Amino acid sequence: MSTSLLLPTRVSHRSTAYPHHRSTGARLEPRVGGNDLHKYFDALFQAHGPQHWWPARSKFEVIVGAILVQNTTWTNVERAIFNLRRHKLLNPIAMHRVSQCRLAYLIRPSGYFRQKAFKLKSFLHFLRENHRGSLTRMFRLPTELLRAQLLQVHGIGPETADSILLYAGNHPVFVVDAYTRRILQRHELLHERESYEVIRQLFESSLPKSPELFNEYHALIVHTGKVHCRTRAPLCSQCPLQSFLPAPVEGSR
Ligand code: SF4
Repeated sequence: MSTSLLLPTRVSHRSTAYPHHRSTGARLEPRVGGNDLHKYFDALFQAHGPQHWWPARSKFEVIVGAILVQNTTWTNVERAIFNLRRHKLLNPIAMHRVSQCRLAYLIRPSGYFRQKAFKLKSFLHFLRENHRGSLTRMFRLPTELLRAQLLQVHGIGPETADSILLYAGNHPVFVVDAYTRRILQRHELLHERESYEVIRQLFESSLPKSPELFNEYHALIVHTGKVHCRTRAPLCSQCPLQSFLPAPVEGSR
């Protein structure tokens, strides 16, 4: 994926805020206003700069990565993708032809490899049956229609579907993950049990519908979740979002 196209050229690391304020139209939610989400993004972007997501060489590799990363780390996914690349399987035709058993063997490093091989094969079956095997045709569909189709594929849940739509298809959907939920909860912007859809709609309705913005925002949230907002002992004192905290988080210093 070309990273140079992610952001407008006038936006530079540690320069001004991301220029999304020009387009407002935000629908404010009871506890998280669009302005809050704008400010959170600005703080993260100014601190960390562009994240250059998704780390892949093709749309299909993004899709494979989005499936393989379920319940494992990206390091393990990279090892599995290395195997697939070495065997020239990172395209829909080649992966369709290889046996599910062989595919499972090659993606062993990603864990749950038998299930994930089945998921990959299920996606390829869906692609052939519904879009003549063409990702270009598939991604031409309107966002909501394609999202609904993807959610019917075995092994593709909301987070995986939205990662595929955003990072492979450049559709304007916001990817919600455990880091998103954790950060918003620690900042008392969410209650405990808001659904994936509620959180997704919150971002999408409060921010401009920009794939570039959603791309960067989710990547910055993941970075923050890994580096600062850890499960235990969050490093609030070093985090760009510290000034937004409503009260000290237990264990932070
Ligand atoms: S580390 Fe602290 S300041 Fe940063 S997002 Fe988590 S709770 Fe907020």
